[in-house]
Amino acid sequence: MPASASDSWFLRARAVIPGGVNSPSRSFQGIGGGTPVVMVRGRGAYLEDVDGRRYIDYQAAYGPLVLGHAHPAVTEAIRRQAGEGTLTGAPHPLEIELAERLCETIEGLQQVRLVSTGTEAVMSAVRIARAYTGRNRVVKFRGAYHGHSDAMLVDAGSGVGTVGMTTPAGIPAGVEQDVTGLPYNDLAAVTEFMEQHGDAVAAILVEPVEGNMGLVEPEAGFLAGLAELARAHAALLIFDEVITAFRFRYGVAGFLYGVTPDLYCLGKTIGGGLPQGAYGGRAEVMAAVAPIGPSYQAGTLAGNPLAARAGLALLDVLRQENPYPEMERLGKLLHEGLVEQASRHGIPVSLNRLGGMFTLFFTEGVVRDYDGALRSDAKRFARFYHALLAGGVYLAPSRLECWFVSAVHTEREIARTLEVSEQAFAAL
Ligand SMILES: *Cc1c(COP(=O)(O)O)cnc(C)c1O
Repeated sequence: MPASASDSWFLRARAVIPGGVNSPSRSFQGIGGGTPVVMVRGRGAYLEDVDGRRYIDYQAAYGPLVLGHAHPAVTEAIRRQAGEGTLTGAPHPLEIELAERLCETIEGLQQVRLVSTGTEAVMSAVRIARAYTGRNRVVKFRGAYHGHSDAMLVDAGSGVGTVGMTTPAGIPAGVEQDVTGLPYNDLAAVTEFMEQHGDAVAAILVEPVEGNMGLVEPEAGFLAGLAELARAHAALLIFDEVITAFRFRYGVAGFLYGVTPDLYCLGKTIGGGLPQGAYGGRAEVMAAVAPIGPSYQAGTLAGNPLAARAGLALLDVLRQENPYPEMERLGKLLHEGLVEQASRHGIPVSLNRLGGMFTLFFTEGVVRDYDGALRSDAKRFARFYHALLAGGVYLAPSRLECWFVSAVHTEREIARTLEVSEQAFAAL
């Protein structure tokens, strides 16, 4: 007999859904097993499972929930729009307003297409980069994640790395050979590659701040160096900001490093928890897509008024309330507390943080790339994870993911989390 309602639900899930999950990163494979918890609702900084247990949530659904769960402004926007229809299949004022808002807010974003997921955003940006340059090769970085289109699964991180894969099965060799994964933060490796193959490269694609091998910041000059290499070889620079846009500031993360790419990919954080993605950039490049250009991208649900209204409501709140300094302050508090506890208990850790987003790696030394992230001790993380879960603190179940302190966490949640983590470190 299952021990809980959650276990009982998950048994049913496993019978009809592969592995019981609709996205592999939700499985507990990366934390040495156990049964994923079936969550029934979210409110503010908290998740509640089907047995009525509450958890402080730092997973934020892998990034979208900058304002936490069921924020009143977003909920009200969804409620209002639901009564007006969720899809028109024709241009709608809300999609136009969202596109305008993104273009007026994001440096270098002149034209934008709305799509429904981050996967579509990247897949489409890569396609028009290929159409625009007439080249096929894409340079990306090992351990990054850019969604699950065929090409982007080559050398991927995040959930792909968590289940122990590099390039999964089912990707045609012809697709694989046009994608090259290089080490993040290694400008010399990119320079060498571009010197040899630059005239075949359509785009250099990068998460300006890595969020899928855990959080890894670009070292000084790395992004500017990529921009220079792309320019010198007439390739495009694409920033995948699906996690990072509106996460550290009201705008994109690339701005923090003074670099503007040719194209951006957006997702998670611009939908307020609804399916919403976007890609765009220089108008001249975006002119490559139909109905004005020779390339093609489409979407039945693209620009739907429900997701557009939710996204606009979220952006309104972020613009008006500027929660970022408080997210940074609480992120730092949690960061310093965790590192102090680990050190007192003799557990080697390395913590990378930007604002309210961070990864606690169970390893010594600075983590600056995927190889460094993979050094994080999987067994230790698994034990730490299960202790936190039992104490009512919910993280993404992988040592290669991030903690997200959102606009709705307060000192109360941070203090409670540190009580639970103190016990967890003591038990390691
Ligand atoms: C999550 C993610 C994607 C894929 O987005 P989906 O909405 O899951 O398709 C793409 N790029 C980055 C950087 C991501 O973190």
